[in-house]
Amino acid sequence: MIKVYNTLSRKKEIFKPREGNRVKIFVCGLTVYDNSHIGHARTYISFDVIARYLKYQGYSVFYLQNITDIDDKIINRAIETGEDPLHLARKFEEKYIQDMKSLAVENVNLYARATEHIPEIIKQIGTLLEKGFAYETDSGVYFDESRYPDFGKLSNRKIEDLNVHRINPDTNKRNPGDFALWKKKNEKPYWDSPWGPGRPGWHIEDTAITEEYFGPQYDIHGGGLDLIFPHHEAEIAQMESASGKKPMVRYWMHTGFLNVLGEKMSKSLGNFITIKDLLKECPPEVFRFFVLSTHYRSPIDFSQEILEQSRSGLKRIYKHIETIEELMESDIPETSSKDEEHEKLLRETRKNFQEAMDNDFNTPFAISSLFDFIREINRDINDSNISKNTLNDIKIFIKEIGNILGFEFVLSKSHDDVADELVDILTSIRGKLRQRKDYELSDEIRSKLNDLNIVIEDRKN
Ligand code: AMP
Repeated sequence: MIKVYNTLSRKKEIFKPREGNRVKIFVCGLTVYDNSHIGHARTYISFDVIARYLKYQGYSVFYLQNITDIDDKIINRAIETGEDPLHLARKFEEKYIQDMKSLAVENVNLYARATEHIPEIIKQIGTLLEKGFAYETDSGVYFDESRYPDFGKLSNRKIEDLNVHRINPDTNKRNPGDFALWKKKNEKPYWDSPWGPGRPGWHIEDTAITEEYFGPQYDIHGGGLDLIFPHHEAEIAQMESASGKKPMVRYWMHTGFLNVLGEKMSKSLGNFITIKDLLKECPPEVFRFFVLSTHYRSPIDFSQEILEQSRSGLKRIYKHIETIEELMESDIPETSSKDEEHEKLLRETRKNFQEAMDNDFNTPFAISSLFDFIREINRDINDSNISKNTLNDIKIFIKEIGNILGFEFVLSKSHDDVADELVDILTSIRGKLRQRKDYELSDEIRSKLNDLNIVIEDRKN
């Protein structure tokens, strides 16, 4: 039985999808105006593992993400760089998808671009207008917050306390908290609509997209903590008003921030490390291990020191796999008197692992159950008290855990060892090139390795 912490009810609830074993998940995707950073990666790795675990438990999961490819941030960046905004958005979207691939975030079934759902957006705004939840002004179409008394239920705020909205005198908004569904604009990019040319507001793309693929009600909506207010509040107001059905989403799930020195990593604060830069010096699995070593709702403080701890933690697991593989190649018996005991230990570990994951996807506890297991089993390995059959079962078990958490866990060599060997191969080829006096190519190898912080010094001998 899986329990999920629901931001809406502020408690853990038993997970039960709306339709049998089908799970529909929507997670807010990136606004594609810059390279994605490791704070984004934290959120998307967390939801990747949630999707993986639900699949492992037999659910049929459809995981949808939007891509915000039209937004003021994109337009402003395009003005700065002199690029076409949609072209700029496509460029950063490609990089984002590539980053996600590098991080083995591979469970999203569909990335839906806002600009490819303009008809759905217009339709939903039309419904809100028709039902009296929205109104038109000179500057756009706005959602009338006063028509939705539940506004604030997700973030536990009262409308009257919400003074964070600024009154924009140009818009003639009825209430300060009313938000734009459609912004009238004559400058490109714009789309035609019944209210004249313009662009969609930020909140409406998500509900138009989810209504199109999931209908007005679905199972899980996710994102980082910063999206609870006002973004997710606005989504609830739009969808529940348009459809008249409640709740729009059964389980609201939010990830904690990845912080640097106690502050949220963000583009605007400039304290970010891009995924691409991180991966130059840190294998993706080390970063994933770092992310999963903290519960998804808790904040993580990023530091090289903690990253190093993750590196050695992961190394211990790979070392264990290596030992198992070596032993399996050796001359040990097929069975042993300890087989039954080991079988029980495996069963208990699998149970502990699942209990941790069932408890709101508690990956740090799940990982620690694996370490407890390795510690115990290593004792018998050292005492030569283990059989080939048991080793084979352990191998299968570790692979199973790897699939859930997104690690390969099949290599007989750690990534570090492979990297060392690759450097040896390259330096040996470079030596041969120098003997042939091909300095151009040998210098290129040195310079490219240098970019990866691998320094080659040519000495006399
Ligand atoms: P954005 O494009 O800024 O809207 O971010 C896309 C997703 O990444 C959202 O779900 C954000 O909440 C999440 N996100 C952004 N920065 C961080 C961070 N430092 N830690 C965790 N998640 C983040």
